[in-house]
Amino acid sequence: MRYSDDIIEDIRFGNDLVEIINSYTPLKQRGNSYIGLCPFHKENTPSFSVSPDKQLYHCFGCGASGTVYNFIMDIENYDFLDTIKYLADRINYPLPEPNGNFDNKVLETKQILYEIHKLVAKKFYQNLSNPQAKIANDYLDKRGIKPNARIKFGLGYSLFKKDDIYTFLKEKGYNDDIILESGLVFKTKNNTFFDRFFGRLMFPIIDVQGRVIAFGGRDLTDNKNTAKYLNSPDTPIFNKSYNLYSINIAKNSKNKEFILVEGYMDVIALYQAGITNVVAALGTAFNENHIKLLKKYANKVIILFDSDDAGIKATLRAIPILTNNGIYVRVAQVENAKDPDEYIAKFGTKSFIELLNNAKSYISFQIKQKMQEYNINDPIQKVEFTKQVSKIISSLSSPVERDVFIKEASYITKISEEAISQEIKLILSNNNDTQKLVNKKPKQIIQNNKLEEARQSILYILSTNINIYNKLKNYIKPEDFLDDLYVRLAKIIFEYNENNKVIYPAEIVLKFQTPEEQKQISKVFMLKLDFSNNDKLEKIINDQLKIIKKAYFDKIITEDKNFEKIQQALNEKKSFDKIYINI
Ligand SMILES: [Zn+2]
Repeated sequence: MRYSDDIIEDIRFGNDLVEIINSYTPLKQRGNSYIGLCPFHKENTPSFSVSPDKQLYHCFGCGASGTVYNFIMDIENYDFLDTIKYLADRINYPLPEPNGNFDNKVLETKQILYEIHKLVAKKFYQNLSNPQAKIANDYLDKRGIKPNARIKFGLGYSLFKKDDIYTFLKEKGYNDDIILESGLVFKTKNNTFFDRFFGRLMFPIIDVQGRVIAFGGRDLTDNKNTAKYLNSPDTPIFNKSYNLYSINIAKNSKNKEFILVEGYMDVIALYQAGITNVVAALGTAFNENHIKLLKKYANKVIILFDSDDAGIKATLRAIPILTNNGIYVRVAQVENAKDPDEYIAKFGTKSFIELLNNAKSYISFQIKQKMQEYNINDPIQKVEFTKQVSKIISSLSSPVERDVFIKEASYITKISEEAISQEIKLILSNNNDTQKLVNKKPKQIIQNNKLEEARQSILYILSTNINIYNKLKNYIKPEDFLDDLYVRLAKIIFEYNENNKVIYPAEIVLKFQTPEEQKQISKVFMLKLDFSNNDKLEKIINDQLKIIKKAYFDKIITEDKNFEKIQQALNEKKSFDKIYINI
């Protein structure tokens, strides 16, 4: 039997590759990846690299490569089915009996869980009329949350009773197993059932289809021993790393620019101010997986986090996650208030909208943050500051954009634009030298390897940079890769890019059937290419594109029987040689 792609992907997602590999061989973080001694071959210096973002590993020594499935299969000597069972077990993922119709069973479970959540959300909402809920109503009044917003967000209250929801669901006829699976109730060691939420202001979390899938609860007592916010645990219908609060409302705003805030109350405060294109991450840092959802509806984001240190740190962390996925980022910051909610209460809607309109490019924000670390009246610190700023600007791939920020940096530091440009040039060329080291290969590179290398790096580039993809797609098509495996990979990459789907390397790898294919595809995604030097990258791309196209035309010229086709290939080959694509 073969499990559905969804199940395979769910199980892969639940098992963190870094965590698993770390239990076999100790890993150390280095930059964006983890490195360690390869568990598949004997070595004294680490050449085994694991990417947490891509959820792939690759050994530069022996070539071992793949996803969490490949790793477990190889290290435990399991077949694919055993590996699925092992990994499912590890995260308590319910797998079907060998003859059972699993898909239906899972669907059924999910259906019941949706039903339970709907009932409970309704109950929480009705609880607001219970005298016990005075504390919640007082709080909402104090925060100025109006009745229509309370209804729109389905706010509610969990009564101060330890098994209110458990009893409620039992009375509705649900069994203990499914009640526990909902995450709304848990069982203690001595078999007592406890509600997860009691005495809290409740925020239902609703998915894009409008279904309640989980809850967030805010403690209203000032009890220091209780978490201020508590969320549902991950369940078959809810994964906090994949969902965004208020996505159901934001998606209908028809605005391609979303505002990313920190908390439930911010979302609601903005809603009351007439701003509906707002989402919040759910009790977890904004991460790569959120992009998958966000990108379906938006291509721009304004980050609007709290004005404290934690908010600034979270902003700096979210920026590369968004920009690396082709999302245009601006940053807005509230002043003289701790969060957007408080800001609106203090200064009003008009002033808040102005603040949003004045949101600055993320580069300006990064420069501003750096400025606070240095005293630019001190000559030595000023030099160091300029270096740091140059580094930030050098991350931009467009020379025009770089120019804009060179001007801004020069204005701030009073250092000439020319000097800053020089500094940036230096950084870019240094990056390139490092790159040369990484790319250093044994001398016996034969023609074939060059073609292979060209195919791999062009595929890698097409999969990681949507802007370059959009330029290259006019010059190259999946069939040009000739090799069956790469043609298939190219088709997937084109399909994802055209439909604006985020490419998750490990997910793509698992679309290939055999471990050999998976290993080969992993290698492509684990290539180390440098994007920081635009000019060099542009040259590499142009060279490699020519190699790929030449092989393609040559194949037609030497193998095709159709004279017209051959003639056409000859012409195209000639004209392609003269093309130079500006990236
Ligand atoms: Zn190895």
